[in-house]
Amino acid sequence: MKKPGFLIIIAGPSGVGKGTVRKEIMKNKKLNLVFSVSLTTRAIRKGEKNGVDYYFVSEKKFKEAIKNGDLLEYNNYVGHYYGTSKSQVEKVRKAGKNIVLEIDVNGTKNVMKAFSKKDIVSFFIVAPSVKELEKRIRGRSTESQADIKNRLKKAKDEMKLKDKFDHVIVNDSPTRASKEITKIIKNAIALRG
Ligand code: 5GP
Repeated sequence: MKKPGFLIIIAGPSGVGKGTVRKEIMKNKKLNLVFSVSLTTRAIRKGEKNGVDYYFVSEKKFKEAIKNGDLLEYNNYVGHYYGTSKSQVEKVRKAGKNIVLEIDVNGTKNVMKAFSKKDIVSFFIVAPSVKELEKRIRGRSTESQADIKNRLKKAKDEMKLKDKFDHVIVNDSPTRASKEITKIIKNAIALRG
C-alpha cells in the first residue's frame, strides 16, 4: 500500500499572490501535487473556471454539503462560504499524491486539528510589506469597495497568526517564492521516504 500523501497548506492574506505561487509550484510534476478544488458561494471572477478554480455553488448547495458531512473544513470569509471537499482529499492522499489546499487561516486551524502534524506541510505567504499588500488588494479590480475594505481588515487579522505555520514565505517574486516552497516540499518528501 502507498504511503498517504501530504496535506500541503498554502495560506496568507487575500491579494498576496497565493494562487500565482501555487500554480508555479504545481508545474513541477515530480512533486506529485493535486490542487484541492474548494466549493464556494462567492461569484465567479473573470478568467476563473468552474471545477478548476472552485466549484461555484449556491448557498443552498453549500449548506447541504455541510449537512451531509462532505466538507473537511469550511469557513465564511467576508460574507461568502468556502469549503474543502473531504472525498477529494481522501482520494488523492490514498493514491499517494500530495494535496494542495489554498485556504484561509481559520480553515488551516481546523485541518491542523483533524490531522497529525507529520501529514501537514504548511506555508503562510506574506507580501514584502503591508503597504505592498494594500496596493495589491486595491489593485485587483474584481472586488467591490466594501469587499476590498473587509479583505484588508481580514488580511491584518490573518497576519497575526502566521507563526502557527511551519514556514513563512515572503512573496517578493512568485518565481523565487515558489522555488523556496518547492525545495521545502522536496525535502519533506525525501525525509518521509
Ligand atoms: P478568494 O475569494 O480570494 O478566492 O478566496 C478568499 C479566501 O478564502 C482566501 O484566503 C482563500 O485561500 C480562502 N479559501 C479558498 N478556498 C477555501 C476553503 O476551501 N476553505 C477555507 N477555509 N478557505 C478557503
